Amino acid sequence: MAAPSMGGVSLPRGNGQTVRLPRGASLTDLAEKIGAQPAALVTALFHLGEMVTATQSVNDETLQLLGAEIDWDIQVVSPEDEDRELLETFDLTFGDEGDEEDWEARPPVVTVMGHVDHGKTKLLDALRHTNVVSREAGGITQHIGAYQIVTELEHNERPITFIDTPGHESFTAMRARGAKVTDIVVLVVAADDGVMPQTVEALNHAQAADVPIVVAVNKIDKEGANPAKIRQQLTEYGLVAEEYGGDTMFVDVSATTRQGLDELLTAILLTADASLDLRANTEQDPQGVVIEGKLDKGRGPVATVLVQRGTLRQGDSIVAGDAYGRVRSLLDEHGNKLKEALPARPVQVVGLTSVPRAGDTFLVVEEDRVARQIADRRQARIRNAQNASMRKRISLEDLDAALKENRQLNLIIKGDNSGTVEALEEALMKIEVSDDISLRVIHRGVGGITKSDIDLALADDVIVLGFNVRAEGQATELANREGVDVRYYSVIYQAIEEIEAALKGMLKPEYEEVALGSAEVREVFRVPRIGNVAGSIVRSGTITRNSKARLVRDGVVVADNLTVESLRRFKDDVTEVREGYECGIGLGSFNDIKVEDVIETFEMREKPRA
Ligand code: GDP
Repeated sequence: MAAPSMGGVSLPRGNGQTVRLPRGASLTDLAEKIGAQPAALVTALFHLGEMVTATQSVNDETLQLLGAEIDWDIQVVSPEDEDRELLETFDLTFGDEGDEEDWEARPPVVTVMGHVDHGKTKLLDALRHTNVVSREAGGITQHIGAYQIVTELEHNERPITFIDTPGHESFTAMRARGAKVTDIVVLVVAADDGVMPQTVEALNHAQAADVPIVVAVNKIDKEGANPAKIRQQLTEYGLVAEEYGGDTMFVDVSATTRQGLDELLTAILLTADASLDLRANTEQDPQGVVIEGKLDKGRGPVATVLVQRGTLRQGDSIVAGDAYGRVRSLLDEHGNKLKEALPARPVQVVGLTSVPRAGDTFLVVEEDRVARQIADRRQARIRNAQNASMRKRISLEDLDAALKENRQLNLIIKGDNSGTVEALEEALMKIEVSDDISLRVIHRGVGGITKSDIDLALADDVIVLGFNVRAEGQATELANREGVDVRYYSVIYQAIEEIEAALKGMLKPEYEEVALGSAEVREVFRVPRIGNVAGSIVRSGTITRNSKARLVRDGVVVADNLTVESLRRFKDDVTEVREGYECGIGLGSFNDIKVEDVIETFEMREKPRA
């Protein structure tokens, strides 16, 4: 079969050949791989009923549809697969190594979830103080996103790790990014309140992730507390208490009076021992997950990581997401320096070059060089993806016009910690000024505004927001030189106000019609090479040459969108004719003019905004 010809451009047929593309690739990316013109692919898709631009990110189905049309087997590679392949090129894998027999038991990692105000924070605080191992003289206990306590079970000291980042978002965000961190979920339900929407949501998350649940029935010190009711309610969701013949442990606690906390810890350990065999290889190269990242004023980028396997040590070369570096120091939640961190140990790592994101995985590699190369490749990939979705150049003019209809303001948000960046983004996304203008955050991150942020912003309508952070030396220079709009804030509402104003500034002007004049047709002249000219008398206002006009016959608009192309008084061309005077009006190629028609002229004026 001949190559399909679309709009005169032929497409190379694949004859079933395979082509691999990263998820979110554009038609330009595909074109490059199969040696086609991007415009030809745009046209081909257009004929299949999909209107996309050459550089727009295209979803999997659309790629498949196009692939089928041009006989290429398009395989979409997920970011996870892509990353796995990247690691493979360095002979690395993320995962357990060696023989399970040789692994050592490790503590469970617990996430506390539940409805707002049911006492998650207070319970985490109370549990922190149950530690049976007296803390070494260290600094004040600080929030680093996770902590470990040691409890006693049958005369054995048993550590438990608690993830201390509030909300379900971090749990789902981590899971969405493929990081399975949590071994057990403690579902907190207030005994005086009962099962609420977020209780159910938490339960669904835990069950979807196949993570066992221990229920902490909290606030039993309160009047009106009804722990039996909670057990009853939760049976409807498949959580049946042991005392009712099920296999879920329910523990009555009070975070305030600290009643029941030991029982809760015991329940966690028993559940872990009964349904999980938690082991890890402590000998392999250390790996794990980033729990939290922030930029510390004195120490620079600081990340709390959870070691999942191997033993992390000071001096290790580490790559975490697209950040890398040498572990300068390891600190626990009391600010104590650690020499090493075993599996399930949360530690703060100081020494990274930038701040990784929560849910990023980390690996220790042989050499700094490798860490750097992996980080660079990941950065490049992130940047490519962002650039691809940002580029606005389009090959087909009509698509260009279609896209311009929908205008958007692009933002880059940088802040001093992931919480504020998220909060700011969330608040900004709620701003609405008009349907045809949208706000898009093309990049977000923790840390100062870097040169690569500014590089990214070098497109139209990108504003860079720094929340409690500043641009680094070179970045400021580049931003000033290229005229990139960089704004600094330390108060969220101020940022919101300014961005809202910026969006309003992008609103398309609204026009209103202003009547200029009207004329009645008295006679129609046929003028060679010009067409019909309306001999008219101006009834009101002024008729002006080049003004917009419409023709009204018996009260009905016969033609709109006309222009007064010629205007004469007697033999002379004039620019305007006022009320009461006679004139000849030519409406260009429009010839359907009859006696007694009315020609109305008007102009469109920009309406001032409220
Ligand atoms: P979160 O939104 O789930 O983190 O809930 P918080 O830990 O912030 O607690 C919400 C409110 O309930 C706070 O005012 C706590 O002091 C209170 N609270 C938490 N646990 C208990 C408890 O066991 N007993 C009583 N009486 N109040 C509690």
